[in-house]
Amino acid sequence: MTLALGAIADDFTGATDLANTWAKEGVKVAQLIGVPEDVTELGDAETVVVALKSRTAAVGKAVNNSIEALNWLRRRSARQIVFKYCSTFDSTPSGNIGPVADALADELGADFALVCPAFPANGRTVYQGHLFVGNALLSESSMKDHPLTPMRDANLVRLMNAQSRHEVGLVPLQHVQSGSDRIRSRIEEIRSRGARYAVIDAISDDDLRAIGSSAFDHPLVTGGSGIGMGLPENFRTSGAITKASLPVAPNIAGRDLVLAGSCSAATRTQIAVAKDRWPARKLNPDRIAEGSGEVEAALDWAVGQPNDTPILIYASDEPDEVARVQSRHGAETAGRQVELALGKIASCLSDSGFSRIVVAGGETSGAVVSALGIRVLRIGPEIAPGVPWTEAIDGKPHALALKSGNFGAESFFVDAFGMLP
Ligand code: ADP
Repeated sequence: MTLALGAIADDFTGATDLANTWAKEGVKVAQLIGVPEDVTELGDAETVVVALKSRTAAVGKAVNNSIEALNWLRRRSARQIVFKYCSTFDSTPSGNIGPVADALADELGADFALVCPAFPANGRTVYQGHLFVGNALLSESSMKDHPLTPMRDANLVRLMNAQSRHEVGLVPLQHVQSGSDRIRSRIEEIRSRGARYAVIDAISDDDLRAIGSSAFDHPLVTGGSGIGMGLPENFRTSGAITKASLPVAPNIAGRDLVLAGSCSAATRTQIAVAKDRWPARKLNPDRIAEGSGEVEAALDWAVGQPNDTPILIYASDEPDEVARVQSRHGAETAGRQVELALGKIASCLSDSGFSRIVVAGGETSGAVVSALGIRVLRIGPEIAPGVPWTEAIDGKPHALALKSGNFGAESFFVDAFGMLP
């Protein structure tokens, strides 16, 4: 099989977000969980998004996994590679966006790549190289308190410069809005000065389409899902990909479950809305860390709930509470333990008939999907910008919605189940 486009995403919800963008563009897309074995069946997919859990992994591991994914995509002759990261540039001063981008570019022999996290439909815009979340700078948004990747600077040129071995330039909005030719000439100027990357401004979908069109011959493109928008058209013009019809909702029998590990402001509001309608149980991270039966108690509680209603299990908490838990157990340990607990709950409740599952949180989604042993997802219809329903096409039947913490309206959980037949 020859692929037109191949993507490597640094977390699971991010992968789904990009796959959703391509599905909406009428592209036949499959999402793979982790670096696939060579025998993986992909149906009629013309593009593939490989979902890694590399956003907060050790740098060396993130680089190795990304190169492994790249080599898999190249064996299928993928003609353009997208490195997908979060539209809020989730990373730490040591990575992993810069080191992974450097390694992918080296491996591809690419001497230039765009850096474009903009996702205007979800309020992520880039202006003068600064990332905005709604009307606030990234560094003044709730991302400043993220448990694993607190973002305290909004200047993408500075952030990328700190993480990469190479120089980083800027394509400002006035060039983007002058069209693809002006973007390309600006990129040439930046390259001739020896920079390997350019952060590129974008405040609308039109900007993203112009950027996509200008990047038709870039071996590597890096960014959020928005950058994916304009790329398929380049391949359609050359006949490499066809036009698919829009996807339908998964038709899976079973009980409805929400698992939330995101501590983002949006997810906490969504939990508050769902708690008013459905049985809900909060996990105690201290008891999880102590191994004192928190998971087992939650499982007993869950199977005892009426089976005609969705149920909600969450660990999410306010920033002060999260900080308290982190100071006792260490940020990474606390996070991983909560993720593992939610993964275990998912797999046990799946065995008890909960097969329609909404997960809130990128890392959390990775843990849940791994625990369920799912390897390939079909992309279904969109619930909210960047979040589609998906259906496992290997293993036990599951409908899954994997939501990046900050995505979705207040009624997201209710809306999601409302879309299933
Ligand atoms: P998001 O998509 O909002 O970034 P993630 O799932 O990626 O959400 O990250 C949230 C992290 O916070 C996970 O590692 C999760 O296990 C951790 N976490 C969840 N609840 C708590 C809590 N009460 N205390 C500390 N960490 C928590």
